[in-house]
Amino acid sequence: MDSLLPPKIQPKIRYSKAALSDHTAATHDLVVVLAPSKAAKTLLRQCPRSPELMIQLERSNKASTVTSVRLSATKQSGSLLLIFVKNPSNTFESLQFAAKAWKEAATFSATSIALGTIGFETADAHALLNHHLAAILAGSTALPTFKQNSTLTPLKAITIIEGTPTPFATTLATHSGNYLARWLTALPPNTLHCASYRKALEQLAQQQGWQTEFMGLPALQKHKAGAFLAVSRANMHKHAGIMRLSYRGSNTNAESRQKITLVGKGICFDTGGINLKSHKSMYDMHTDMQGSAVAVGTLLALTQLQVPFDIECWLALTENEIGPNAYRPQEVITAANGVTIQVVHSDAEGRLVLADTLALAAKQKPQLMIDFATLTGACVAALTERMSGVFSNRPALHDSIQRAGRNSGERVWCFPMDSDFDADLDSPLADIMQCTMDNKGDHILAARFLNRFVPEQIPWVHIDLSSANKIGGLAHIPTEITGFGVRWAVEFITHYSFN
Ligand SMILES: [Zn+2]
Repeated sequence: MDSLLPPKIQPKIRYSKAALSDHTAATHDLVVVLAPSKAAKTLLRQCPRSPELMIQLERSNKASTVTSVRLSATKQSGSLLLIFVKNPSNTFESLQFAAKAWKEAATFSATSIALGTIGFETADAHALLNHHLAAILAGSTALPTFKQNSTLTPLKAITIIEGTPTPFATTLATHSGNYLARWLTALPPNTLHCASYRKALEQLAQQQGWQTEFMGLPALQKHKAGAFLAVSRANMHKHAGIMRLSYRGSNTNAESRQKITLVGKGICFDTGGINLKSHKSMYDMHTDMQGSAVAVGTLLALTQLQVPFDIECWLALTENEIGPNAYRPQEVITAANGVTIQVVHSDAEGRLVLADTLALAAKQKPQLMIDFATLTGACVAALTERMSGVFSNRPALHDSIQRAGRNSGERVWCFPMDSDFDADLDSPLADIMQCTMDNKGDHILAARFLNRFVPEQIPWVHIDLSSANKIGGLAHIPTEITGFGVRWAVEFITHYSFN
């Protein structure tokens, strides 16, 4: 692999206001038409190749229970797939349905697709088209493969056919961000490590016009980032550090310039450290950098949307290894903000690297700080892999946090942040314990721990990515690595009211 970034060959997407017609079928390999589940026959006659379609519908006899109708390509026309859509009750269900529809559409191995609707109100049609576009993009872009022969028919073009212009910039941008996050996370740990990850990020920064700064181990020593350094101590290579990417917003008025900071946990491989993981729980630990990949994916999406405010992205890149230098339980370490920490468990490394990264990033005084991390098993135990847990030092944000989850289809649940939880982290030796000896409420205690490194005056949201990996995929994402968080963050941030 010359570059660790995902390939740019993605389908070309264009919009056409021409109505669905036989011409559409003649100029595309496949036409996908979405229709209401109880669509009348007069309405279905608007479909391309309608005489053949009507015969097919008659044949299927029980028209009311038919969920889709397929017509194969002929010499004159491409294939047609008519999909009956039941009214989805929310975005998640709609995306999930779109993924199923795409699975069927993908069996045509088309290189050009037209996507249109009949019989929906304009707003519903626009939402449907966006969800199906998201599912087609997520389903047709491959993750890294090291097979000598890979066989995937590349989808080259998608035409969205709709009478009124359909806004789909956000869908395209969030797809780019999600795809980047999934791609990076899927790379094997001997391909994506601290040094190569940094190089890939610098390459991406150059393409996107972001400024970069890398704080390697000497710089972190200067900043007295003792928590980050403790985790990195056993690494064979000394390439760990904090990568900082900066996007300048299109708003040129320096006075009113607002800044959002994204922070991501980037453990390129987590052995658990000296409290070594067992083979089953270590198997996927190259994906323990997914928080950082989601942070940079969110930055990419917001850059493509040309948001008016500044964004800083701070990525904590390291490994959690074993070795004679590895940090041990009962050590007392000092974080960049002076807080002393009693180490309890070397596998709770994520909160340590985040502690220093949050403390250092907070010095820039952003108007909002969001961190992304695959942090605790307790969050998975509480929510399963279907949703992610969110914590904030501003309870007033809970409504908009959860609304962003419902609207984006990446569902989140807000957990308590009451200060009396801190008593569980009282240390006889230091300012705070890293975690407790049991696992009870560890997702909440991890958030309370991180809270010690975020100044009270900065609105802060912590997302524990329990839905980062889900067997069989989630919503419109077909792969086990979900890249969860980009859609939610773009929705939340673009609706965030500064002040
Ligand atoms: Zn760990």
